Amino acid sequence: MKVKVAEKVGFCYGVNRAYNKTNEMLKKDNKKTYLFGELVHNKIVVQNLKNSGINIFKDINKLPTDSKTSKVIIRAHGITLEERRILEDNFDEVIDLTCPIVSNMTSFVIKKQKEGYFIVVYGSKQHPEMRALKGSVDQSKIKITKDIHKENYKKVCIVSQTTVDIKSFKNFYTEYLKTNDFSDIIIKNTICIETSKREIEAKKIANWADKVIVLGGKNSSNTKKLVNISKTINEKTLHIEEIEELKNKDLSCEKLGILTGTSTAIWTLKELTEYLKNKYSAEILD
Ligand code: SF4
Repeated sequence: MKVKVAEKVGFCYGVNRAYNKTNEMLKKDNKKTYLFGELVHNKIVVQNLKNSGINIFKDINKLPTDSKTSKVIIRAHGITLEERRILEDNFDEVIDLTCPIVSNMTSFVIKKQKEGYFIVVYGSKQHPEMRALKGSVDQSKIKITKDIHKENYKKVCIVSQTTVDIKSFKNFYTEYLKTNDFSDIIIKNTICIETSKREIEAKKIANWADKVIVLGGKNSSNTKKLVNISKTINEKTLHIEEIEELKNKDLSCEKLGILTGTSTAIWTLKELTEYLKNKYSAEILD
């Protein structure tokens, strides 16, 4: 079996930054540290942080009783202004590890709203990044959707969630323009370059391989996107989060491709390649 691993694997820039800074902090400071929500959508990484001493709480209305003497970390996806205010009022220290790419998108949206644009975001309302965006800008001048609507606004700016796929975004704004008659329109691709590159690689690997494994969180939006892209080309695409999920599966084939989401740790990938070497005498290609 020959195994080709995508070039862009492991943590993306934003996750790497958040993960490393969190670990540095845990090592040099013994003040109790909390994380509001999960740092990333990957249970292995979250468990690893818990093992290093991080404490997680998910409900802003149920703060830890020792918050006044503790630190709290804001995760890579960001949070709403109201959540930020509550954390600042109740914790000794707030460490903001929102990915700068996400923060830049929020700043862009605020700027365009001030210039009088109504914002349409191609994304999922429930995704933490979208919740954070909506809760950080003028909520009366933004719509987060994947559906096409007839708008009453004439001055509109269309942007995208950072993790959506470029083809769907293009289809979305093309249809939006056909359905509406805007007098002033801005379309800005705010898809993160890290996820776009992985998308391109996913297509190449899915075309090359007999079978594809996508390694990443089951609730990670960018991992699910890679799974969908790969499946469209290669129906023998398997999404796993942990190596244990492979134990009863027969992966025998000549060419196996591997992709990972942006919150998949490199050590999990290593575990996978070792497993393939041991069980299938796999040759990992450069
Ligand atoms: S995928 Fe992009 S925007 Fe999201 S955390 Fe990673 S680098 Fe930041």
